[in-house]
Amino acid sequence: MELLKRRIREDGQVKGADVLKVDSFLNHQMDIALFVEIGKEFYKRFAHCGVNKILTIEASGIGVACITAQFFHCPVVFAKKSKTSNLDDRLYHAKVVSFTHATVSDVVVSRDYLGPQDNVLILDDFLANGEALRGLLDILRQAGSQVVGAGIVIEKAFQPGGAQLRREGLRVESLARVASMSEEGGVVFAD
Ligand code: 5GP
Repeated sequence: MELLKRRIREDGQVKGADVLKVDSFLNHQMDIALFVEIGKEFYKRFAHCGVNKILTIEASGIGVACITAQFFHCPVVFAKKSKTSNLDDRLYHAKVVSFTHATVSDVVVSRDYLGPQDNVLILDDFLANGEALRGLLDILRQAGSQVVGAGIVIEKAFQPGGAQLRREGLRVESLARVASMSEEGGVVFAD
């Protein structure tokens, strides 16, 4: 998606070897006009898949998921990061290792909001090692829901998550794929 790639080139900041900061339009301040274009693009790619629910993970996936849901006319469910190791049987649980904070959290979704009747599109802001997506897939497996695929705003294609999940059969659609990046040279896109 050219508009997104241009914005990453202009406003993205590379931190160290593998963190891309896009706080000015995606992760802290949110550019809603850009989110609308992102939502339209996800809709174009998944329009005929019978999506009746979008699943994301707090916090940074929620904004994009909500704007995108307006095109699919469906609700958004976000997995909550829970501090207590929750043994509540009204919840689906998964463990997720956070890429940015190097912590492990238990993420939970209520059984009330996902089940076998759901045809789910997963959305997230970044894909790196695939931990967040794997946690969400685990929750959908517990719920018996159908998985339509995953929509990702920025995939760091030099990290293994995307390739592994595609090999395992998941449809992953990323709107910008970063092939490599460095503090000196900036971002190089894969396609
Ligand atoms: P993964 O679980 O695929 O390893 O990492 C994806 C999650 O980590 C996303 O939900 C995102 O919040 C965060 N993340 C991973 N890499 C980056 C990055 O380079 N920049 C930002 N801002 N977040 C990232």
